[in-house]
Amino acid sequence: MSTYDYILVGGGLQSGLLALTLADRRPVSKVCVVEAADRVGGNHTWSFHAADVPPEARDLIEPLVVASWPGYEARFADHVRVMPSRYATVTADRFDAVVRQVTTDRGWDLRLRARAAIVNANRVILDTGEELRGRCVIDARGPRDAGRGCGYQKFLGLEVETITPWPDRLPVVMDATIPQEDGFHFVYTLPLTPTRVLVEDTYFSDGPELDHSVVRRWIEAYLGRRVGGWRVVRDESGVLPMPWQPGPTQSADGPLVGGYAGGWFHPATGYSFPVALRFALAVATVPPEAAPQATAALARRLSPRWRFARFLNYLLFRLVPPDARWQVFARLYRTLPPAVLARFYALEFTAFDAARIVVGRPPRIDPFRALRLPRSSRWLSPSLS
Ligand SMILES: Cc1cc2nc3c(=O)[nH]c(=O)nc-3n(C[C@H](O)[C@H](O)[C@H](O)COP(=O)(O)OP(=O)(O)OC[C@H]3O[C@@H](n4cnc5c(N)ncnc54)[C@H](O)[C@@H]3O)c2cc1C
Repeated sequence: MSTYDYILVGGGLQSGLLALTLADRRPVSKVCVVEAADRVGGNHTWSFHAADVPPEARDLIEPLVVASWPGYEARFADHVRVMPSRYATVTADRFDAVVRQVTTDRGWDLRLRARAAIVNANRVILDTGEELRGRCVIDARGPRDAGRGCGYQKFLGLEVETITPWPDRLPVVMDATIPQEDGFHFVYTLPLTPTRVLVEDTYFSDGPELDHSVVRRWIEAYLGRRVGGWRVVRDESGVLPMPWQPGPTQSADGPLVGGYAGGWFHPATGYSFPVALRFALAVATVPPEAAPQATAALARRLSPRWRFARFLNYLLFRLVPPDARWQVFARLYRTLPPAVLARFYALEFTAFDAARIVVGRPPRIDPFRALRLPRSSRWLSPSLS
């Protein structure tokens, strides 16, 4: 039986960020990462805003960045907003390479193609029957079926090599100048080089269904309007729950649950990076046995912001009809100063920021939408009120 200071179960974004912060802050620890796939990080492109990374973590994160831009755009039928704040992207390939390097340098145990069957507070049993012991076990096995009130952010992205240069210099985080269908519908474009771009067709929708062949044709039609020709080099897709009800709470005698499964993400954007990074920093600043207390303190600090973000999801998915949802984002991008948007994305907004987010000309509301819902998901749960 092997024993460790930390066992990180699931080698995705959360565990990779934990490995980087532990390597920096607790380099003499003994760490094991258990990942079911044959590499770390899966098939993702993660992007983040400058304010998502606290100053003390910038040097840690920079080796992960494959591309960055001095700003980004959001486009709506009636206006375009250019935000003058850095936007950066991490690919799974780079993530895998950096995390492997860090674990190799420290002599840590990176167990790929290893599936955890049982995960307890101090013990992990692999499906081979092998038992691992840890002073701190962190369960970060990724998004699980929410099983609670939520809307969905769902998308399919094609990374393409284009024949003619991509016409935009900056990422467009929302191009909502397209027909609105199945909720808030927009295209996300990330010009990784002048001739390589990730194009994601995205929906903020009531249901999780996504017909890949239909969406793929849709992206190809969009590409056809923008470049002379292209070759698909990769695709990625996701269906992320956007909850308006709170998630399961951390159990006192279970493993510490991190990442998406533990609720360490931004409920109203689906972005994980800022919150998973703060979780990793909280874990790495204290000895292994104190990690649950350190992350509980962080959860208490973030709790009002999580509640507010879930409240926004409730408004968006339960009161605003699908075809009017774009108005919510158009107003935010028309009225909010860059600093407020940056704090919103980073889940570091103030009470005054929150007031600015909700006060203003409302979108079209359908008060009967909520009444048509199943009774269990009709009202805000007590902890959301
Ligand atoms: C395609 C896509 C793009 C996204 N883009 C962004 C973005 O730009 N910015 C952003 O902030 N967020 C983004 N997100 C949201 C969020 O960052 C991801 O969901 C994030 O990867 C969640 O991190 P995690 O570590 O909790 O889970 P994951 O990264 O999903 O990692 C979980 C890992 O656990 C492993 N695993 C599962 N079960 C077992 C088991 N039994 N034993 C061992 N290993 C197991 C899986 O193989 C996986 O590698 C994106 C999500 C998707 C799906």
